[in-house]
Amino acid sequence: MVDSAHDPVEDVPFDAVIIGGGPAGLSAALNLGRARARVLVVDADRPRNAATLNSHGFLTRDGVPPAELRRLARAELEAYPQVRMLSRTRVVEVEAADAPARFELRLDGRRAPALVRAHAVLVATGLRETLPDVPGIRAFYGMSLFSCAACDAWELQDRPLALIGETPDLPARARLIARWTHDLTVFTNGADVLDAVEEAELAASGIRVRRHPIADLEGDRGRLTAVRLADGTAVRVDGGFVRPRWHTALEFLHGLGIDVDTDGHLLVDRSGRTSVAGVYGAGDAAAPGPQQLIVAAGQGARAAVVLVHDLVGVTTAH
Ligand SMILES: Cc1cc2nc3c(=O)[nH]c(=O)nc-3n(C[C@H](O)[C@H](O)[C@H](O)COP(=O)(O)OP(=O)(O)OC[C@H]3O[C@@H](n4cnc5c(N)ncnc54)[C@H](O)[C@@H]3O)c2cc1C
Repeated sequence: MVDSAHDPVEDVPFDAVIIGGGPAGLSAALNLGRARARVLVVDADRPRNAATLNSHGFLTRDGVPPAELRRLARAELEAYPQVRMLSRTRVVEVEAADAPARFELRLDGRRAPALVRAHAVLVATGLRETLPDVPGIRAFYGMSLFSCAACDAWELQDRPLALIGETPDLPARARLIARWTHDLTVFTNGADVLDAVEEAELAASGIRVRRHPIADLEGDRGRLTAVRLADGTAVRVDGGFVRPRWHTALEFLHGLGIDVDTDGHLLVDRSGRTSVAGVYGAGDAAAPGPQQLIVAAGQGARAAVVLVHDLVGVTTAH
């Protein structure tokens, strides 16, 4: 892999430009590099999981710090000189181009060229998230307050936990988290997202619901110890979960008229192809949305292999 900050990108079309250097994009780059493709990875370096100290559930890397997983993946790409990387650079527009390239990408980065061309584009830009409007919540997010049960519930098991959210899927999330604890309180922060029947069903499973707005979160050095409500009561907890709202940021694709689902995720087939020929999607940016590191990496690998088949014009299994 060549860091293009030190080796200017030539004005010839890449076989593929990968937008996003998370597990989906880096896994795609590895597989494209191994297929002798000329690849450029453009990464804004703003991973969603930067808030957390350790990532879990990635085969052979359980507990690895997120930045270390990226460092290892980038180091592996060093073996493939046709793979280039532009860090701290954002793709701001993708447009259809005249032959021989299919796409033109406008870039924004201090040491990046303004424009690159490519025969194919793989979108692996992940998601952005908005946490519930609760004072101080950022200080606990990724430390003792998490969003993904499969990723982090093991470390919190058998503790008194909070589930904080303002969306109608809270009952389903509560039932899932109750797998790891018998002491769970759901906080709706004043949002009217639970009806009396759902509350009674949760109560039957030993899950409490507190509907008042949250005035404050208490704790020390990232460890959440209590949720203080607007009515003055404080509920003791020892960490928990939060339900963010997730958003894609795919404005740079608008010129292509690409299909997205009702939540704004890229619509892809099982091979990662989008509704626009030559554009592929992988990872959290693609429907159905937030997943896990290993799933994103798997989708990136799959899309890369299919992209190479499409470049060659063949339909075949591996
Ligand atoms: C707090 C937290 C903890 C988590 N813990 C775990 C865990 O323990 N285990 C697990 O499996 N999963 C975990 N996850 C989920 C996991 O981080 C995601 O599923 C995974 O990172 C998705 O990978 P991705 O490649 O699709 O996107 P990302 O990893 O988000 O990478 C996308 C990249 O694209 C870049 N980008 C975005 N837009 C542009 C653009 N226009 N131009 C250029 N670059 C762009 C971003 O800056 C970013 O670097 C966690 C998530 C969070 C938020």
